[in-house]
Amino acid sequence: MDRLMHLLAPKSWMGFVVRLLVLIGIVATENLLFAYYFGSLGQDDAGIVSYYLAHATIVGGPLIAFFLTVTVFQVRLQRKLLQLSRKDGLTGLNNRRTFFDLVEKARKKERRGVLLMLDADWFKKINDTYGHQAGDYCLKTIAYTLRRNVRHDDVLGRIGGEEFAIYLKNAPVETARVIGERLAKPIAFETATLNYLSVTLSVGAARSEPDLTIDVLLAQADAALYQAKQNGRAAFVLWEPAMQPGYVAQSG
Ligand code: GH3
Ligand code: MG
Ligand code: MG
Repeated sequence: MDRLMHLLAPKSWMGFVVRLLVLIGIVATENLLFAYYFGSLGQDDAGIVSYYLAHATIVGGPLIAFFLTVTVFQVRLQRKLLQLSRKDGLTGLNNRRTFFDLVEKARKKERRGVLLMLDADWFKKINDTYGHQAGDYCLKTIAYTLRRNVRHDDVLGRIGGEEFAIYLKNAPVETARVIGERLAKPIAFETATLNYLSVTLSVGAARSEPDLTIDVLLAQADAALYQAKQNGRAAFVLWEPAMQPGYVAQSG
């Protein structure tokens, strides 16, 4: 089908005219063949209805079927492209832009919720020791673990290389703490050749308040994440006013 689409799509005005003429030629040939084989149908008044019905079916049918097939192909392609532009290819989670778009949307409906920022600890070491592919397995397992630990309605995203984020819609801080502390525990993963590996996450959280902008909320969660790293990693920290708001974590 891809090849056929390439063949059909004109790349210049000349190409457009050539394709137009070929298509007109096909329709004309169809009509001529129809007239040759079924022309006698329209000889009397009674036959005129069957003539037009047969004409619409035999001449128009294949053309309509063809254009419907092209439409189905285009719609599928469009859906696939939309999916690719919104999701992270490795983990299938929302990408950074989609994540924040969805958080904005959720906060328009209900300002309360909790934003969690999660960063894999010493991830570079995993790559350096076991290889980049093992790192990819690890990222996929983290994504799977995040999915399993939140509600279907919550927003999840991979917002950087080994950085993830969760927005718990309309959730109290206590719930965020339970989830965050659980996610800060070692996560086991395996690769095609290695078993019994594990990774931990540092988690920073900030409560979404009605008057907070998303940028401030993000900066607060980032500051809390930075604090979790400072506390020795594999830890959950909730943002407090004593932490500098707007501080952007230096953890990479
Ligand atoms: P920290 O605990 O301070 O966060 O240390 P870290 O090693 O996790 O952080 P650092 O920023 O030093 O390293 C992050 C690494 O993540 C570096 C980069 O090569 C790796 N990385 C980013 N994206 C991917 C990816 O898609 N796949 C793999 N395998 N590695 C990735
Ligand atoms: Mg890291
Ligand atoms: Mg990082």
